[in-house]
Amino acid sequence: MKRSTKFVHAGMEPDPSTGAIMTPIFQTSTFVQEAPGINKGFEYARSKNPTRSALETAFAILENAQYGLAFSSGVAASDAILKLCTPGDEIIACKDLYGGSFRLFDKIFKPLGLIFKYVNTSDQSEIEQHFSAKTKMIWLETPTNPLMQLSDIETISSWAKPKNIITVVDNTFASPYLQNPLNLGADIVFHSATKYLSGHSDVIQGAIMLNRKDLYDHLYLIQKSCGAVPGPFDCFLVLRGIKTLHLRMKAHCENGALIAPYLRQHSKIKKVYWCGFEDHPQYALAQKQMSGFGGMLSFELKNDADHLVKKFVSNTKLFSLAESLGGVESLINHPATMTHASIPADIRRANGLSDGLIRISIGIEDAQDLIEDLEMALKQC
Ligand code: PLP
Repeated sequence: MKRSTKFVHAGMEPDPSTGAIMTPIFQTSTFVQEAPGINKGFEYARSKNPTRSALETAFAILENAQYGLAFSSGVAASDAILKLCTPGDEIIACKDLYGGSFRLFDKIFKPLGLIFKYVNTSDQSEIEQHFSAKTKMIWLETPTNPLMQLSDIETISSWAKPKNIITVVDNTFASPYLQNPLNLGADIVFHSATKYLSGHSDVIQGAIMLNRKDLYDHLYLIQKSCGAVPGPFDCFLVLRGIKTLHLRMKAHCENGALIAPYLRQHSKIKKVYWCGFEDHPQYALAQKQMSGFGGMLSFELKNDADHLVKKFVSNTKLFSLAESLGGVESLINHPATMTHASIPADIRRANGLSDGLIRISIGIEDAQDLIEDLEMALKQC
């Protein structure tokens, strides 16, 4: 079955009691049982809720996985994955990554005894250098947020598998439309479903997809025991978003392919970070493991004086100044003071994230209107 058909039908079964084509919002905390232990497959909504079950089936279908799990946010999904580790375990993580992931590692799990080694995972030899008998997990974001660096999922997973190391991929930036890490050998893929999966900036949610039964059983235990589950209405919204994922992603990619070259040729722009440029260091890899380049990119102004950068990001009209990404509307963000402010400035700068970096999430509006908006804001600084 082709992706567009799969995405429209993912998790969709007519409601057996009414025939409703859309999964109802089962706004209930508990389920009446016929006798102790005799029930219709649902007992208490933290463990299982029919709206969430439909969404979890859809999540699995999106990533060609056996299992899907929904969480109350992307970081709740990350939190559950990290709970697969025990004190003393080492995690090799990519250096350039979402600020909230770094905060979760550094402020919550490091004090609990997990050891994080931040490396440039685009370079396989760096991963191998930091490997030890205690390495439990490799944590990849590809493309990374915000510098759009890629890691070779297939090479890393096939190196990690015989060593019993779990390869985890944060697939938020690519979405399941552009990249399927499990097909490339990863053990766990997760998303901030807040972004492209929902697509309308109206919900916070996380998704985990995987094939390994042992890891699924452990993650389900964590989901039900720790309780970071999304409510049924949020599940309904994401189910609805998934039906148009393929259409939205096509539009994001088309707009990205027009806006990235426009920015790059502009006399006021120093550098554009976008994995669709032929001279991007991992362009060949992008062509191999992704089926498009997406709508996320970052750039720096030639004159990156703080007041000019802040003026620029405040002056666009169609690009709204806000954190988050992946919605139908375009957003602009200043990582150093917004999404990545929780990473200490010296670490950020050492990783190549400059104070002047600007990140945009290109929506599905008309590309010419978006270019005119950027042009107008650039003229003003
Ligand atoms: N991963 C990436 C790449 C993100 O950009 C984000 C949020 O921006 C997250 C994970 C966390 O997701 P959430 O905000 O849904 O908790």
